[in-house]
Amino acid sequence: MTKELTQLSLVELRDKLRTGETTSVAATQAMLARIATLDSTLKSYLTVTPELALEMAKSADSRLQNGESTPLLGIPVTVKDIICTDGVQTTAGSKILEGFVPPYDAFVVEKLKEAGAVILGKTNTDEFAMGSSTENSAYKTTRNPWDLERVPGGSSGGPAAAVAASLAYASLGTDTGGSVRQPASFCGIVGLRPTYGRMSRWGVIAFASSLDQVGVFGRNVRDTTAIFQATAGYDPHDSTSLQTPVPDYEAGLTGDIAGLRIGIPKEYFIEGMDSEVETAVRAAIAKLESLGAEIVEISLPHTEYALPVYYLIAPSEASANLSRYDGTRYGPRVDGGDLINTVKKTRSLFGAETQRRIMLGTYALSAGYYDAYYGRATKARTLIKQDFKNAFEKVDVIAAPTTPTTAFKVGEKTDDPLSMYLSDVFTVSLNLSASCGLSVPCGFDSKGLPIGLQLIGDTLQEGTILNAAYAYEQATNWHEKRPEVSDK
Ligand code: GLN
Repeated sequence: MTKELTQLSLVELRDKLRTGETTSVAATQAMLARIATLDSTLKSYLTVTPELALEMAKSADSRLQNGESTPLLGIPVTVKDIICTDGVQTTAGSKILEGFVPPYDAFVVEKLKEAGAVILGKTNTDEFAMGSSTENSAYKTTRNPWDLERVPGGSSGGPAAAVAASLAYASLGTDTGGSVRQPASFCGIVGLRPTYGRMSRWGVIAFASSLDQVGVFGRNVRDTTAIFQATAGYDPHDSTSLQTPVPDYEAGLTGDIAGLRIGIPKEYFIEGMDSEVETAVRAAIAKLESLGAEIVEISLPHTEYALPVYYLIAPSEASANLSRYDGTRYGPRVDGGDLINTVKKTRSLFGAETQRRIMLGTYALSAGYYDAYYGRATKARTLIKQDFKNAFEKVDVIAAPTTPTTAFKVGEKTDDPLSMYLSDVFTVSLNLSASCGLSVPCGFDSKGLPIGLQLIGDTLQEGTILNAAYAYEQATNWHEKRPEVSDK
């Protein structure tokens, strides 16, 4: 019984809760039991909140009994630990925020609660979401549920691994440069990074403000759509939040993609990419064609600049955002005798990658270098944006691999930041543009590791890419495969 409940999809559980076939308390207990058994191995959670979760589940059950049916009523989910939760520690994976308990919920957490979701706890992230493997978390390295010697991707590796291993039915993450799509691909689940402004950033600890965006994970497209539907929308607290109404994305999943024009950017099939990834992605594109889509070769000519541009803009914005952590207002303070030494010692709590980015960003923004680095990067960003704009005049969706390889081994790239950055080569350009994107499972390599197909849509075209992914998912069964995780 326990196993069966945790293996249900979010939408299946939602149906069973509504018909009274099961209860939220039963589902929550089953999830908590699974977390207790497996998470010492998987290390996806930083904080589990069993009492709070059971309280929420009980209240959901009485609402369900009264015939209420808010969109996520009674569904246990998890939230990346960079998103503030009222009364529950939020660390951003950093020692500099150890013990920080926010006095309010992020807007997207408020939305989760309004929708009736049960929050199981907070899941692991690279420090301040800087990384592609969760190895930059100051607390633990999450393991990939398909192979415990490998990383789950990052920075939202905790949420992705938890959803893939059935330790939550869905999750909230953040995607500043691929941090939802890349771990979704590595863990064999669906991850959506909506258009900048579609989901509120209020209460999300800032990394790079012009790129940060909340995203969602689910085990399949329908589940992902359900949590997205419940958490997207305008928030007056966030000045970059879009006022455009939220369409009925769930109703838009028709699976009909006849006549959809799908562009294949030639710059996304590059030397050095894993041939098994390429084969699986090309097969997925052929499948989309057989479902009625029209395949068009396109070009995004400035793709090669995306990584350097991202790795200048993101650290520059991070260096400004992270200046607030000086031991005065948040988290611990390390006493250094006088003010300067106290700030210095407190800021030494930042991990190596975060310090590297603060230094890079400060340098790129400093007088004399600003024009040469930050200024040029913002100009190149405009060219990248224009590439997407031009492409979306010809096609409705762009299809590409999510990552050039499948999940790499723990420790494989930790001594070589550049090779870590290179794993983001297909994901960062979208964040520099005004597009949205998702990753959907499209196969496995010969080691049994999942491969992701990336579908990119024009501004606010989340419905189009979700429906294309849904059509693909209906015609394949990759999403039905689940990793077997056992306690060691
Ligand atoms: N891997 C990228 C980085 O390290 C993206 C991170 C993210 O999207 N939060 O910056």
